[in-house]
Amino acid sequence: MRVAVIGAGASGLFVSGLLAKQGHDVVVFEKNDKVGKKLFITGKGRCNFTNVCPVEEFLKNVVRGQKFLKGALYNFDSNMCLDFFASLGLKYKVERGNRAFPESDKSSDVIRVLKDVHCKNVEFVFDSEVSSVYRANENFVVVSNGKKNDFDRVIVATGGKSYQSTGSTGFGYKVAKEFGHNIVECVPALCPIKLKDKFVKDLQGVSLKNVSLKAECDGKKLEEFGEMLFTDAGISGPIVLTMSSLINRGKDVKLCIDFKPALSEKQLDLRLLRDFEENKNKDLKTILKGLLPKAVADIFPRAVMLDETKKIHDITKAEREKIVSGLKNFALKYDGLYDLNSAIVTSGGVDITQINPKTFESKIANGLYFLGEVLDVDALTGGFSLQIAWATAYSCAKNFV
Ligand SMILES: Cc1cc2nc3c(=O)[nH]c(=O)nc-3n(C[C@H](O)[C@H](O)[C@H](O)COP(=O)(O)OP(=O)(O)OC[C@H]3O[C@@H](n4cnc5c(N)ncnc54)[C@H](O)[C@@H]3O)c2cc1C
Repeated sequence: MRVAVIGAGASGLFVSGLLAKQGHDVVVFEKNDKVGKKLFITGKGRCNFTNVCPVEEFLKNVVRGQKFLKGALYNFDSNMCLDFFASLGLKYKVERGNRAFPESDKSSDVIRVLKDVHCKNVEFVFDSEVSSVYRANENFVVVSNGKKNDFDRVIVATGGKSYQSTGSTGFGYKVAKEFGHNIVECVPALCPIKLKDKFVKDLQGVSLKNVSLKAECDGKKLEEFGEMLFTDAGISGPIVLTMSSLINRGKDVKLCIDFKPALSEKQLDLRLLRDFEENKNKDLKTILKGLLPKAVADIFPRAVMLDETKKIHDITKAEREKIVSGLKNFALKYDGLYDLNSAIVTSGGVDITQINPKTFESKIANGLYFLGEVLDVDALTGGFSLQIAWATAYSCAKNFV
């Protein structure tokens, strides 16, 4: 069969090699002058290509499309992924949090084995942006650089709509729409969060460890524990990225930081009482510096409306309670997420109710397939997004007719 694959990213490369091995005639159209431009920047250039955990555990990290992806993730789980890359000659290592990386720490090694070993019988057409796909009788016509090409099957592996300089500009949604698919609104996921608070500028670059970021999103309570940092206009870092994926469709979002998640309010109050007792003649700021990073201690009294110059012996019980409550629930003024282009992945995309989860073929256009991030699926950080790209490609190829 003559198969067109649009996009030489993770899912496009993976499915192309598998189909070529089955004897299909595969042509990959890639608008860039090389394969895997997004893959190259994954995992800060190290490519966290899968997460080695049982499928049930994996599914807890899938934000949208859990049920839809279950079969594909069982068909091609992370152990199969490790075996697959090993068979291509890639040496790998598994780090904290079950994250798998190439042993060399170079994403280029993942790209190289995919392109040169796995796809050695695949035809690539570079600098060739597909502008439209339509049906002519039983076949498809793929138009690229003004040239029409006939195919029996078309696989859309064009990615999402974030980090557009890598080539993923949302073209797949256009194809899907033209064939009658619904597109679920695309919003940023794994993305920094914007804040309206004036103090943000004073905190840019400050990182916080062992804190909890708490959210109330349309009445639902969420909490993430770990590291975060302040940016020019808000917050980022691991727990912020995770939180962004959980609140990105929220209408009413309230955020706060718990600077001392290991202590209850009562324990914290006792700690303050002890500190106060030992530092009666010092000012509030001095005490706060023992509890918070300096830059945060500097803005903290104003943010919770306390006089920073006040001496400890003048602080009332009500003021002490205010400090405790500020340390446990430091309110942030949510101002939405950064834009899609700053998002590691796109949430939303081709409506999965119109896609067969075994084959990834369209239920409304026979012979047309959608793989990877173009679908309305998304997951948290840790190698889950790439595993979804591999697994959707694997199921598609395995059940290809
Ligand atoms: C900074 C960053 C870091 C990341 N790190 C990780 C990580 O460590 N682990 C992880 O699991 N995930 C990571 N991700 C997410 C992961 O990279 C993506 O989810 C994954 O690449 C999606 O694969 P895909 O095949 O769907 O699309 P992509 O890999 O985005 O590939 C799509 C391809 O289609 C091409 N294309 C688009 N339109 C056309 C057209 N009209 N004609 C021809 N070609 C076209 C594009 O040029 C591109 O090459 C990261 C993402 C970013 C942005």
